[in-house]
Amino acid sequence: MRKALGLLVLIATVATAAGPRKTPKPGYNMYSKEQDIQLGREAAKEVEQQLNVINDRELTDYINRIGKRLVTVGQLEEYPYFFKVVQEDSINAFALPGGPMYVHTGLIKAAENEAQIAGVLAHELSHVVLRHGTNQASKAQLFSIPAAIGGAIAGASVGGGMLGQLAQLGIGLGANSVLLKFSRGAESDADLLGMRTMAKAGYNPLEMARFFEKLESQSGNMNKLAVAFMASHPNPGDRVKAIEKETQYLPKAQYMAQEGNLQKMQGIIGGLPKLPPKKPVQQQQAGQGGPPQVEFSRNSKVYQGQGYTISYPDDWQTFPDKNGPGVTITGRNGVAQLQNGQAAVLYGVITGYQAAQNGQVDLRRDLDTLIKNVIQGNAGMQVSGQPQSIMIDGRNGAVVQLTSPSAAGGKEIDVLAAADVGSGLFYAVMVSPESEYQKMEPLFKEIVRTLRLQPKQ
Ligand code: ZN
Repeated sequence: MRKALGLLVLIATVATAAGPRKTPKPGYNMYSKEQDIQLGREAAKEVEQQLNVINDRELTDYINRIGKRLVTVGQLEEYPYFFKVVQEDSINAFALPGGPMYVHTGLIKAAENEAQIAGVLAHELSHVVLRHGTNQASKAQLFSIPAAIGGAIAGASVGGGMLGQLAQLGIGLGANSVLLKFSRGAESDADLLGMRTMAKAGYNPLEMARFFEKLESQSGNMNKLAVAFMASHPNPGDRVKAIEKETQYLPKAQYMAQEGNLQKMQGIIGGLPKLPPKKPVQQQQAGQGGPPQVEFSRNSKVYQGQGYTISYPDDWQTFPDKNGPGVTITGRNGVAQLQNGQAAVLYGVITGYQAAQNGQVDLRRDLDTLIKNVIQGNAGMQVSGQPQSIMIDGRNGAVVQLTSPSAAGGKEIDVLAAADVGSGLFYAVMVSPESEYQKMEPLFKEIVRTLRLQPKQ
């Protein structure tokens, strides 16, 4: 009797282990889905400054048809996906958070059939749906630092830590970007969701396994072109076997999907003029090369903060403070990486809120405290002008000019504007290299003029 029971238990265990894997779900994430989309958009801009996007209509349409088929017939969750082909010989493709997707010409050339391309796209799309990029970023605790920047200006250190991390997201899109380098667990999940998606969409999932196998054997042979994919998508172990094993649990199906003629597309790629490689976007290094040339568009965008709205040039990026109402807004080259891994804002705006000392604003006293806090957080900073009274959106406020050494070398001007919002001061610190201040001053004035403040509830 006892023996029989033991046997039953054993069988049950084996049966579970041998069954299909559970469909993976997105893991821990500190970002919202909207932030995935926003981040992906910003990163896509960077990517397209660094890689040559192919404009051939027929080729792009073909890849888009495959992608669309996977998304709709394969029933993937809704994201604003798009698919672009980039002129790169390495066999690779990558997806950014929230949907932008880039396929290398080298991958299309290396594929033996359409299903192999679909396999890679399905794998990449799965990274998007499972939000692996921001999951990695969350695990790296990217958002643990803004507490220092936001809540108190004390930390607002015009060179706070968050931007360094975010700069690595927005600017550092190289091979080591946390957004594009996945864990083995994430790889195994993307394989699984990917192969199921391609099967639903009418592609033979075994072709995914075959293509990975081919890449792996070639990268073993030091084929540099095949190494790229394996480097950013590490083999979770027995990758091909794991995919093959899962195919046995799929419903029997004829895989007939065909969106175009792959050989023709490979011919198009063969005939493309070779574009010179674009220059990778230079990351500003602290203390090197001097202050950046400020960049700002004449068109503005509005950032809706908690209790305020602020207008800013529409080519700047916003980095909201996770733990407070503040935001840091800066241009593409507006951040310097510091030696200690932190970052400094070279130009841009940082907003925040400072509560009044005893719940009742005394503009003079609270402004003094605010200035002291700002100076404390920024080595070498000093007041360089008398505070002037101004009205900001109909409220009593003041503006004061400070100067400090810039992390990029030379001096920087920091204009602090603050307004009484009832329970405390709303403030904006506007940063500019001294050498660029003439250019920036009208912009700063416009930012202050168009600030809109709502009383704290
Ligand atoms: Zn992957």
